[in-house]
Amino acid sequence: MRFDLVTIFPEFFAGPLEHGIVRRARETGIISIHVQDLREFTKDRHRTVDDRPFGGGEGMVLKPEPLFEAVEKLLGHGIGDARGKVPLEPRTAIVLMSAAGRKFGQNTARRYAELERIIFLCGRYEGVDERVAEHLATEEVSIGDFVLSGGELPALLVIDAVTRLLPGALGNEASSQNESFAARLVEMPSASGKVATASGKQGNSAGVRLDFPHYTRPADFRGWTVPEVLIGGHHAQVASWREEQALAKTRRNRPDLLG
Ligand code: SAH
Repeated sequence: MRFDLVTIFPEFFAGPLEHGIVRRARETGIISIHVQDLREFTKDRHRTVDDRPFGGGEGMVLKPEPLFEAVEKLLGHGIGDARGKVPLEPRTAIVLMSAAGRKFGQNTARRYAELERIIFLCGRYEGVDERVAEHLATEEVSIGDFVLSGGELPALLVIDAVTRLLPGALGNEASSQNESFAARLVEMPSASGKVATASGKQGNSAGVRLDFPHYTRPADFRGWTVPEVLIGGHHAQVASWREEQALAKTRRNRPDLLG
């Protein structure tokens, strides 16, 4: 899978992509990342990417031309204009990072993990000319209900969440299936009385819950001990304890997930 990052701060990405799972995924060729300096697509001496807002008001707005041209260069073809747009390759997304976008979540990460290429547009200043959201980006995505100073951190966060879902990216394949927000197998009693499994619905459904608590050695740390059941090594008891605890934690920290 290929990720492109369009940014006015290409150096921003020097460190964060050099660690752990993302680093290994790059080294093994599961993902490739290309950082594109937006200023290469300016035509004036000052390499201006922003301008004052029409209608007045605070701050500066990223201009549409450099963003369109950067994406066109990355795609290797034109986007078109108001008279006609050129369709994108299938399995390609152009994602505008925006506090006013649709909320990113594990469902979106799973959908992105099926793609071949994502081009991230990182905003700065007051934001980005709306024609980018309307006619260039295929989606506008927010990482949460707060305002950051740029789209670079949000794009990194999305890359991280998507990469760890790609086959082979995690050392232990099972680990992305049992964690928080995983689309779980929900046990449902069947007509025959046996227990059947069905895929839990995604989103705010009963099939989604947070991870269970994890413990490691020492079993006694400053007098705070590990729950007895985990030490006993009784597999079924451990499993049901984890299920209960995951539910209790979800109720405590994220009751909204339980509907
Ligand atoms: N005026 C805008 C905020 C601009 S912040 C507003 O009120 O919505 C500058 C840039 O930071 C944005 O263009 C976007 O790319 C990025 N950004 C800020 N908060 C973000 C968030 N929660 N999710 C994704 N991107 C965000």
